[in-house]
Amino acid sequence: MTIFDPELLDRCISCGFCLPACPTYALTGDEGASPRGRINLMRALETGELDADDARVREESSFCLGCRACEPVCPAGVQYGQRLETWRDHQGRGRHRPVLTRLLTAVAAQTPLLRALGLVRRPARATRPDGDRTAASLMLGCFERGLYPGVSRAVRRLLPGIAVPASQGCCGALHAHNGASHRGEEMARRLGEQLPGVVVTTAGGCAAHLATVLGRERVQELSEHLVATGAAPVGEVRVAGRRARVALQDSCHLRNGLGVSAQPRALISAVADLVAVPGEASCCGAAGTYSLLRPRDSRRILEPKLDAVEASGADYVVAVNPGCLRQLETGLARRSSPVRAVHLADLLAAAAGGVPLPHGARWRLPRRPARRRAPRAP
Ligand code: SF4
Ligand code: SF4
Repeated sequence: MTIFDPELLDRCISCGFCLPACPTYALTGDEGASPRGRINLMRALETGELDADDARVREESSFCLGCRACEPVCPAGVQYGQRLETWRDHQGRGRHRPVLTRLLTAVAAQTPLLRALGLVRRPARATRPDGDRTAASLMLGCFERGLYPGVSRAVRRLLPGIAVPASQGCCGALHAHNGASHRGEEMARRLGEQLPGVVVTTAGGCAAHLATVLGRERVQELSEHLVATGAAPVGEVRVAGRRARVALQDSCHLRNGLGVSAQPRALISAVADLVAVPGEASCCGAAGTYSLLRPRDSRRILEPKLDAVEASGADYVVAVNPGCLRQLETGLARRSSPVRAVHLADLLAAAAGGVPLPHGARWRLPRRPARRRAPRAP
């Protein structure tokens, strides 16, 4: 049985250059939890030396974040992300796919349900594409339209002419990254038919998946689109009478898959003071469904990152992907941090006079009431 294209697996020359870039290797120091170790497991699967039920094979296919930080540093051009999708497809056959993954992918595939969610949560108002003249369409996303409907409204403020077709489903990235890559491809193709012109997305993970299926020229992430079209940011974001200090958390798939990292930084620098944070380019631990399936590991990856963000003195940390935004927001709230996580679209729209950004800690953890001492007996 052929699982992987052997030529693609053979490309790995076992040099180990990818090891220092891998967050799970950094966490464990274990060769098996590194890109090179995982490629060796794929080879063992291919030759039949190990099978999909092997405990190490199962563990490593799920422990990997799929962040693709191993790709840009690889001198042999190993496309690890695509190998991981094939591996998870293989693991996902039959009984190995987690129930939560099945549930989330089933919900995301229901376009009528997503449209109903849109009616309740009110993302950017739908506009009809303008025939052949439509240059760009905004993708509303599946979970983003429910969790962060304000993001697409902010994009509408930045790009008033963008089309927002009402009938649009999920791009299938969730499926492709979770053991259902054929379904993910089908969904991306269908979305490509529903959205005329260049597909503009506010989610780095979706951008990378769509670009793989539809072609790089059809897809632009928001920051890439704004810079490419010369839409200069307007205004600035201020906090306590000074220019706001803003850090960026890269989206792994956007940075490592599409090579987009300078554009969000340029846009932030135009409206605020960009603050560099150590580790800003590495995965935040959200990684699609990872934070739900492996919450403990996800937090082990997130916590040092939040320490660094807080130590930087930033007022805001910007995300360019809804999953990262959720991860940062939840982690910062958990520690009652004064740093706020916001989407890049919200930051730019606020600078341009849109909805002001929230400031300061969001949820204070409930304090325990002081225990009253019993009155002393006379
Ligand atoms: S850097 Fe590339 S070639 Fe070297 S071990 Fe890692 S995946 Fe293999
Ligand atoms: S995708 Fe990320 S976690 Fe997985 S092997 Fe590559 S660098 Fe490590």
